[in-house]
Amino acid sequence: MKIYMNGTMVDEAEAKISVFDHGLLYGDGIFEGIRLYRGCVFRLDEHLERLEKSAHAILLDMPWERSTIAEAICECCRVNALEDGYIRVLVTRGVGTLGLSHLNCNDPQLIIIADKITLYPEEHYTEGLKIITSPTRRVNPAALPPMVKSLNYLNNVLAKADAHRAGCLEAIMLNDQGYVAECTGDNIFIRHKDKWFTPPTSAGALRGITRGAVLDIMEDLDISCSETNMTRYDIWTADEMFLTGTAAEVIPVVEVDGRTIGKGKPGEKTHEILEAFHNLVSKDGQMIR
Ligand code: PMP
Repeated sequence: MKIYMNGTMVDEAEAKISVFDHGLLYGDGIFEGIRLYRGCVFRLDEHLERLEKSAHAILLDMPWERSTIAEAICECCRVNALEDGYIRVLVTRGVGTLGLSHLNCNDPQLIIIADKITLYPEEHYTEGLKIITSPTRRVNPAALPPMVKSLNYLNNVLAKADAHRAGCLEAIMLNDQGYVAECTGDNIFIRHKDKWFTPPTSAGALRGITRGAVLDIMEDLDISCSETNMTRYDIWTADEMFLTGTAAEVIPVVEVDGRTIGKGKPGEKTHEILEAFHNLVSKDGQMIR
């Protein structure tokens, strides 16, 4: 596999960064996870806009135009002969001293990895996920805005470990006030009667690209959805639930903390939305060639 590193394609074995890179020393950097569907990059511009906003929020001046990064992403997919896959774009603060200050780092690193994607096993889409609420809270927005997709994912890594220790693949994370924020790598949607709800970004949810695409789909399908603070009780008593994410797409949830959601089977609306999502990805992308 070839990796894009600062303007050149290098062999995987040669793709290395300095031990003095603040991305490694302090998790000082940002990233994006993007999908390639049949030779088209899904919502590339939105991902790059989110990357730019993350960079701006952490005072990281990216010296590359959006079009340069977009072209590098497409080139990385072409070089690796990918038609379908997962693209990871990373920007690290670059080499500095052992001190925390970002002022010593003047050469941010742009790294792009385009690889095949490992999806959740198919049975989870047909039967639904069983998940828990993690005791690990989402990082307080006043400490590190969760809207920034930073390299500082330890909070989510620990919550994912909570999920695995409970025999689950995902976990809900609450914010410091006890409201539902999101899962470790996915956004949350629930239905009560004919109304859908998703936590607002102010509750600690990432402004997911898939979440945005699903909100667009819901509007097209005349499905009412509002961004509302929700508690665990609201989740436990939901009639239907699904998660959204670049890797997961739209995946049903049928049990949370041992409480059955709805009828304990993936809901009809979830299927309808997943189908609409598959239609969307087949036409809403940027061709890599
Ligand atoms: N929340 C978190 C914490 C994430 O890391 C991600 C991305 N995996 C998401 C939500 C979903 O966002 P997107 O749809 O942009 O992948």
